[in-house]
Amino acid sequence: MVKLDAMENPYLLPQQLRDEIARAVADGEINRYPDPAAQQLKRSIAEVTRLPSGMEVLLGNGSDEIIQLLALAVAKPGAVLMSVEPSFVMYKMIATFVGMKYVGVPLDKDFSLDLSAMLEAIKSERPALIFLAYPNNPTGNLFDAYSVRKIIEAAPGLVVVDEAYYAFASDSFIPQLGHYDNLLVMRTFSKLGMAGLRLGFLAGSPAWLSQLEKLRLPYNVGVLPQLVAAKLLRHHDVLLAQAENIRQERARMLAELNTVVGVRTYSSEANFILLRVAKATQIFDGLKQRGVLIKNLDGGHPALADCLRVTVGTRQENAQFLSALQDTINQLA
Ligand SMILES: *Cc1c(COP(=O)(O)O)cnc(C)c1O
Repeated sequence: MVKLDAMENPYLLPQQLRDEIARAVADGEINRYPDPAAQQLKRSIAEVTRLPSGMEVLLGNGSDEIIQLLALAVAKPGAVLMSVEPSFVMYKMIATFVGMKYVGVPLDKDFSLDLSAMLEAIKSERPALIFLAYPNNPTGNLFDAYSVRKIIEAAPGLVVVDEAYYAFASDSFIPQLGHYDNLLVMRTFSKLGMAGLRLGFLAGSPAWLSQLEKLRLPYNVGVLPQLVAAKLLRHHDVLLAQAENIRQERARMLAELNTVVGVRTYSSEANFILLRVAKATQIFDGLKQRGVLIKNLDGGHPALADCLRVTVGTRQENAQFLSALQDTINQLA
């Protein structure tokens, strides 16, 4: 299968870097417990992220684990976790798992933030925790930064800006850390080529992070992920160059998709594209029969009726997807 369903980076690392990693792994002390403070890795992360001074990071086994940790920290009967809809499904799932009340505020029809609806919901629900994916998954757009700031200012609790797709986006809230007491920024390296390592982080003030650290299981990031990620981050430029390729491919793919009759595209600041078609499930099945796996969002949320999400792959994979899509549409016509 051409695998374009999970926002993975399609490129392999240069052979020289893979050899370097292999040597480092060979010397990894896997008989020992990992460094629970992961000092070296945290320093690398602070550097490549250009964290404002005084800000720190908390590491997670993927950012999914950090969502869970944040929810555990604020969960109590009646506490509200708020996000927008449609967005990343783990916010709602984890709120449910930890016994919080979940409130999803609908986005506008074009998937932009409905600021007045958000402000109203914040006033009536008093959420302990708000998640905003920036850019949003599965819609791909970047919310208006002014609206996000207004939400941070109005929120009585924590606001977490989830920047899983930072490497493909034109803006970030990292520079805003320190300007707002209730802002935390979460990132993951999954979409930048390390999905298999499981490493995410939360950036913010030590006042928050030291409290959240109390809930983190001490060995949540293993010896090998720490070692490999630290090495990879020393070659952050290699990963960012891959992300730049993906951005260029995204533009090409969007332009080509816009010429396909019956396909509506949404602009994207992430490494995937949201599409709306006439018969999403039939097109999804047709692509699968032709060896291309994408994500069918039809049925997941009313606002995503007949929507498909395709990850941007290599030039060749994208070409295979586009030709399979055209074939499928022709066959259904
Ligand atoms: C993929 C994704 C994550 C989780 O990624 P991990 O692999 O658990 O680090 C978090 N938020 C959003 C919006 C995502 O799309």
